[in-house]
Amino acid sequence: MIVVMKPGATQAQIDHVVDRIEQLGLRSHVIVGTNLTVIAAIGEKRDGTRQALETADGVDKVVPILAPYKIASLEVKKEPTVVCVRDLVVGGGRIGVIAGPCSVESREQILETAHAVKAAGATALRGGAFKPRTSPYSFQGLKNKGLELLAEAREATGLAIVTEVMAPEHVPLLSEFTDVLQIGARNMQNYPLLEAAGESGLPVLVKRGPAATVEEWLLAAEYVLNTGNKKVILCERGIRTFEDHVRFTLPLATVPWLHQHTHLPVIVDPSHGTGKAALVTAMARAAVAAGADGLMVEVHPNPEKALSDGYQTLTPDQFAQLMQECRRVAQAVDRIM
Ligand code: PEP
Ligand code: MN
Repeated sequence: MIVVMKPGATQAQIDHVVDRIEQLGLRSHVIVGTNLTVIAAIGEKRDGTRQALETADGVDKVVPILAPYKIASLEVKKEPTVVCVRDLVVGGGRIGVIAGPCSVESREQILETAHAVKAAGATALRGGAFKPRTSPYSFQGLKNKGLELLAEAREATGLAIVTEVMAPEHVPLLSEFTDVLQIGARNMQNYPLLEAAGESGLPVLVKRGPAATVEEWLLAAEYVLNTGNKKVILCERGIRTFEDHVRFTLPLATVPWLHQHTHLPVIVDPSHGTGKAALVTAMARAAVAAGADGLMVEVHPNPEKALSDGYQTLTPDQFAQLMQECRRVAQAVDRIM
């Protein structure tokens, strides 16, 4: 890290910071500029090092050089991580498409959707059995019955299953039925849940919290990686801003930024990311153009009747059209979809 001294910091203050750095077991290197002095602190940092230096007299700020996430960082692993389960491949030039309803509602609904999204080229079926709803009075999901229906749809189509886990104690149950555990946006900073999901050994899809910075999101992924589970997929699903023409603001610059800072694959969810069915296909195309390693799209045989998120859900025909359009974009950016 770099300690930036205030303009006019005295020699005694600079010497004191150098002493502090050395007492903390680090090496120091002083660079005297025309207007101010900066001091590099080199070596393995312990927790609290930054705070210990920041409070010294004459210090303006302490700037970390290495990212706080370690296992997730590109500095630690240069090759992109590719997550594969059944026919779903996310990363390494392949675009994996996870499609399906917001919630599993009935046998007919999930089977019809599964067949339709498979025919259009999706390789995974999504569907919530345990639903995180803003209101306790909204449909909460079919729970165990929903998991059984997802397993039946997997049996019928061969699609990999992606479903959300809401509590650490549900991990063993969900692990029997799903191929990928989804950590929902609202739970991105539920650390015991991230650890329990990581310990399952299943691939874990970590959605970005609507109020989380990219660094906080990567640190959430780091919790999963820290259990020894390397199969982590990041999912950009939009953040809360002052904008109200969309449900969430979908910041696609995170995709190339993440590719420059982490080896983990990044997928985009244009359904939650816009909250409007009419905007989903355009943002899916944009996500592929930006280099996304996958898409997560809500699809329902009859979105008007959906028990959750119908307003942002595509019909099977609209989804098939999305796939065709995104394939052309994928080809233009040298990806296989
Ligand atoms: C979902 O995928 O249906 C969902 C609840 O998403 P998020 O956690 O991103 O809101
Ligand atoms: Mn949803």
